[in-house]
Amino acid sequence: MTSFEELKIKPELARALKDEGIVEPTAIQYRTIPLVLAGKDLVGISETGSGKTACFGIPLLEKVQPKKGVQGLILAPTRELAIQISGELKKWSKYLNLKTAIVFGGVGIEPQIRAIAESEIVVGTPGRLLDHLNRRTLNLSKINYFVLDEADKMVEMGFIEDIERILSASPRNRQIILFGATISSEIDYLKKKYMHDVVVEETEVQVKKDLLKQYYYDVQTHEKFSLLVHLLKKEKTGRVIIFCSKRSTVELVNQNLREQGIKSEMIHGKMTQNKRMTVIERFNKGKIDYLVASAVASRGLDIKDVTHVFNYDLSQDPQEYIHRIGRTARAGESGKAITLLSSQDHDAFRAIFSRYDIGAEELPREDFPKLKFQTGMQSRNSRGFDRRRESRGSSRRGNGNSFGRRRY
Ligand code: AMP
Repeated sequence: MTSFEELKIKPELARALKDEGIVEPTAIQYRTIPLVLAGKDLVGISETGSGKTACFGIPLLEKVQPKKGVQGLILAPTRELAIQISGELKKWSKYLNLKTAIVFGGVGIEPQIRAIAESEIVVGTPGRLLDHLNRRTLNLSKINYFVLDEADKMVEMGFIEDIERILSASPRNRQIILFGATISSEIDYLKKKYMHDVVVEETEVQVKKDLLKQYYYDVQTHEKFSLLVHLLKKEKTGRVIIFCSKRSTVELVNQNLREQGIKSEMIHGKMTQNKRMTVIERFNKGKIDYLVASAVASRGLDIKDVTHVFNYDLSQDPQEYIHRIGRTARAGESGKAITLLSSQDHDAFRAIFSRYDIGAEELPREDFPKLKFQTGMQSRNSRGFDRRRESRGSSRRGNGNSFGRRRY
């Protein structure tokens, strides 16, 4: 058994961790703690619950010096996360002479100023941290460790400029540790602009096999939309996400669903952050039940109570599938992931199941009304809907691919 002692953690810290039942590092902790201790900039791709707080919290508590000013700064998107992080750090530092201050908006600033003055680590949300910087009640000149936790969420919430302002106010040689559930283009930009000698580590993807049922249908491309509508009507669905790999497909599927009277909305990477957040909020509040989405919705976003994930088509990245299906069957609920497979999706589907130890069950062909799929102007440019590649057979006409009734 690997223990935290083996990672050369101070006995006082190891003891406090043990008091919290944290004895054996998780896989990502085991890989990242030595890297962070060795001074590397780190991008950690991981979801909450993976033990990511310890990946940066333990090295910080190990390295900062008592009574030498604020040396570690942790940015978090929400006050809840900031409270959670500082709570953990406080518990873990109980045998060390170190203090953590927490700052977020909506509460009095004076107690925060006093807490900052006597702390070695500060955890906070970007807006209030900037406020302290502007008032000169937070001095970043001694910052050695700069943590961005749930960085993708901070970006989604529109904090990127605040993050950059705070980063720019800290010394150039500080170590940066960034955690997020995904690497969006904005995160990639932060990584390239501010980080050096970066190591990227990722947590193992968890698929809750007992709660998440995976199915697929073999269908010809030109019948996918009809099958989708049929399934949306037939299945007892609550909140549904329909993933498409291209923005153009997202737009077309959304537009066609609406023409069928299904009140869907869409989310994709070309929409502004604000628009994306508004759609997610409407979805989470139950104002929309059908969300047609590109990869932007598959990672990092806090999307609640999804009963069904449909893969209208597949991305070439096997991991994307795992992230997509992980949007359902969360928090102990069960969920279904249904993939509509046509000839161009088979290679990608096979790659998923050769990489991950999961399986999907083929469902028998269905009889369904054939609907018109309006392709408008966009379809002529959209290779995803190239009907010429496939013959137009009836959906009942037997399996059109070489796999037969195979279980993936
Ligand atoms: P996090 O992803 O950092 O929010 O951590 C999720 C939960 O797992 C928290 O309650 C941690 O205290 C706990 N935890 C983190 N690392 C370990 C570990 N190595 N062993 C047991 N529990 C842990």
